[in-house]
Amino acid sequence: MMAAGTVIVGAGQAGFQAAASLREHGYQEPIVLVGDEGVAPYQRPPLSKAYLLGEMSGERLLLRPLSYYEKHAIELVLGDRVTSIDRAAGRVMTSSGAALPFDHLILALGARNRPLPVEGAELDGVHYLRSQKESDLIRARMDGAQNIVVVGAGFIGLEVAAVASKLGKRVTVLEALPRVMSRAVTRPVSDFYAQAHRDWGSELLLDARLQRIDGAGGRVTGVTLADGRKHAADLVLAGIGIVPNVELAQAAGLAVANGIVVDRRLATADPRISAIGDCAAFPDPASGAMIRLESVQNAADQGRAVARRIAGHAEDYAAVPWFWSDQRDLKLQMVGLTAACDRAVLRGDPASRAFSVFCFHDEKLIGIESVNRAADHMFGRRLLGAGQSIAPDQAADLGFDLKARLAQLPPPARA
Ligand SMILES: Cc1cc2nc3c(=O)[nH]c(=O)nc-3n(C[C@H](O)[C@H](O)[C@H](O)COP(=O)(O)OP(=O)(O)OC[C@H]3O[C@@H](n4cnc5c(N)ncnc54)[C@H](O)[C@@H]3O)c2cc1C
Repeated sequence: MMAAGTVIVGAGQAGFQAAASLREHGYQEPIVLVGDEGVAPYQRPPLSKAYLLGEMSGERLLLRPLSYYEKHAIELVLGDRVTSIDRAAGRVMTSSGAALPFDHLILALGARNRPLPVEGAELDGVHYLRSQKESDLIRARMDGAQNIVVVGAGFIGLEVAAVASKLGKRVTVLEALPRVMSRAVTRPVSDFYAQAHRDWGSELLLDARLQRIDGAGGRVTGVTLADGRKHAADLVLAGIGIVPNVELAQAAGLAVANGIVVDRRLATADPRISAIGDCAAFPDPASGAMIRLESVQNAADQGRAVARRIAGHAEDYAAVPWFWSDQRDLKLQMVGLTAACDRAVLRGDPASRAFSVFCFHDEKLIGIESVNRAADHMFGRRLLGAGQSIAPDQAADLGFDLKARLAQLPPPARA
């Protein structure tokens, strides 16, 4: 009997990588990559940066040209949605009526935007940003807009604000918490970015709660804050986080807790079914705590890891997380997880617009946040990847040679 092979649900960053890596590892069985978006897998980061600004074409968003999939015998099923998993029969059903059998099933379902929970959220002119289509809509709307209100000063909100202010729009950013990007970065980096956006001409309102979105004739005209303040808007961009797509797994009886629950090898309780990328909750290799990450690195590395396991090289997932965000001339790069940071050490001067914050927990380096200091970021990836640390006073000392420290590292275990 012919092998059913691997079905990958979700043709995004993680799903694409799993398919590509399976073939790189010599996997010979059929691979079917199913995506509901109707376009071949593409990168999302430019959607709030160069692509939104009009400096990058749609073609360049694609992770690979269509010919790649044919050449590597990856069957791409686009514009179709997997609606259920029949675990007993080992197959998934799609909205077009297809039944796709699998030996291995990889759920790479991504996430969807968290909707604004306020009156007026349904008005024309209220936008979210996850897909290329949504980026196109925002750009078209932005061209004719004067006043743009961004709800949420996370990465996507601030990246859109950076584009909009560069395009000469009047931008207001509302953030319910006392500082920007607070879930992800330390205070010095938050404060630096808040000032940068103000310098670019945006109005940044912290501790600001959105009460409702105002409109006339079905179209957005402004927003009202909880304290009664009003701001005019002809475009509202909501960037208040995402919700992982877990329903498919849940309906199939798999455990779900802020993500589809997987083990150290990214497998669910059903060993034939794995979950990767934005939709997966997995044990942090460092602490063992269940985490879910939303980044290209996480999606791609988990795609690679699950492909290696299916191809017969089982090992625990242990990649060091990293992330970046581009806002005008500022490149923010982060490595490690810094929530447990109990000592933040500055390397370089924020006034020079190039500095890093080295984050320690119990005197051990756990992460680095860098602004326009790519070398510090790369240092962190190598050092943390080797499970090593430096002392806080070394981090603060610009005379301390990071390159020389890397030269002392043992060679990596696997190329
Ligand atoms: C605007 C924007 C900017 C970003 N910028 C950065 C950045 O600068 N740096 C960074 O590291 N990360 C960034 N990210 C995050 C990064 O893009 C994501 O973490 C990454 O795309 C996650 O990959 P994924 O494959 O898990 O999910 P996705 O890329 O979302 O792919 C999941 C796919 O599955 C499809 N799908 C879901 N359910 C089904 C179903 N039942 N049947 C078929 N298909 C289904 C979805 O429609 C989607 O196409 C950004 C994200 C966005 C939206």
